[in-house]
Formats: sequence, C-alpha cells, structure tokens
Amino acid sequence: MTTEAERKMQFLFALRSRGVTDARVLTAMEKIDRADFVRGIFADRAYEDMPLPIGAGQTISQPSVVGLMTQALNIQPRDKVLEVGTGSGYQAAVLSQLARRVYTIERHKRLVTEAQAIFDRLGLTNITAVHADGSFGLPEQAPFDRILVTAAAEDPPGPLLAQLRVGGIMVLPVGQSDAVQSLIRVTRTEDGFDYDELRAVRFVPLVEGLGS
Ligand code: SAM
Repeated sequence: MTTEAERKMQFLFALRSRGVTDARVLTAMEKIDRADFVRGIFADRAYEDMPLPIGAGQTISQPSVVGLMTQALNIQPRDKVLEVGTGSGYQAAVLSQLARRVYTIERHKRLVTEAQAIFDRLGLTNITAVHADGSFGLPEQAPFDRILVTAAAEDPPGPLLAQLRVGGIMVLPVGQSDAVQSLIRVTRTEDGFDYDELRAVRFVPLVEGLGS
C-alpha cells in the first residue's frame, strides 16, 4: 500500500521526468497540495498526472502541463500575474508561490466562489479571483508582467496582448477547440511581439460571455 508521502514523492518525480525541472516551480508544486483542489470521487486521483473533472463541465489541468506552463512564464518575485481560467484554483495557487500578486478570472461564478474559499482556507492572500469574461483581461489592473491562459482561443486575444507590459510574457494554448492545439509563448518587445511554439496540448475552449 502506497502512503500519502510516497504518492507525493512519485508526483514530483513524474513532474521532473516530464520536463518540469525549474527548482522554484517544483518547490511551489510541492507546497501546494493538488488534493485541496480536487473534489469528491476524484480526490484519491489528485497525484495522478491527468486532468480531472471539477464541476461546471470543466477540468483541473494535468499537473505536468501546469508545471510546464508555469516554468515557461519564468515568473519573478515582484511580478503581477493574470490567469484566465481559474477552474479549480490550483494553477493560481501555484502561481501565488512565485509572484507578488495573482489575479485570476473565471466565467463560471460557482468555480470562482469555490476557488476563493480554498484560497481563503489556505491563507493564499495574494490571489484575487474575479467573475468575468477573461478574453477581455482585467484592464483596471493592467499592465501585467505575466499572463497565463488556461483555455484555448484560435488566436491570442487582442485585449490580453494589450495588457502585457513591454518585456512581459504570456503563455497560452492556441488552435481549434476540437483539435490538438499549440502551447505558445508570446514576449512583448519594444517593437511588437515575439512568438515561440512550446508543445502540443489539449485544452477546453476559451468561451465568450459568462457561464452560470
Ligand atoms: N487553471 C485551472 C485549474 O488550475 O484548475 C484549469 C482551467 S480549465 C482547463 C479552463 C477554465 O477556463 C474553465 O474553468 C473555463 O470555465 C474557463 N474559461 C473558459 N473561457 C473563459 C473565459 N472567456 N473567461 C474566463 N474563464 C474562461
């Protein structure tokens, strides 16, 4: 029988073997327990490297993808980060260990309320969860040093590009929602934007408007 400590060790080992090698990211993912964000019958699968249902027809992302996206952002301690797609709140909690401030937007009110309750219970006071359509970003808090989108759009949304500061980095999946998408990194320069493709991924679509 595997103990909880052994399962957590295997979890970190699996992250490393899938390319999550940044020590700061691994420390953040060791500190934030994914089991706090996985509910009901799926709770005992929290340390498996797979997406799991969280309600409202949505999923908590695969931990290795959370790690790789976080790593690609290269977050600095003074950074203000925007996440689009709060879902369970797990990714935002990982980001909160690396950044000064995290704003996370979700279109389903129920998911915002549940994630905020977990942040409060865990004392993660540098995260603010907002119920809104994240395609428009959060103009009142812009510009952001880093932006992470955890739902796929066909192209990077214009308002998010506009809210990235010069020198800032955005990581997001792009492509059709029913196909394999590309995870890309966008870096804002003085003159425009540099794009690089990181890997193939599969995310739920970025949907316009508010959910229930
Ligand atoms: N980051 C999440 C986590 O750690 O659990 C997983 C996110 S899940 C793969 C994608 C989320 O994006 C869903 O909760 C979905 O409701 C949300 N979403 C989709 N379109 C959105 C939009 N326009 N604005 C805000 N959230 C959106």
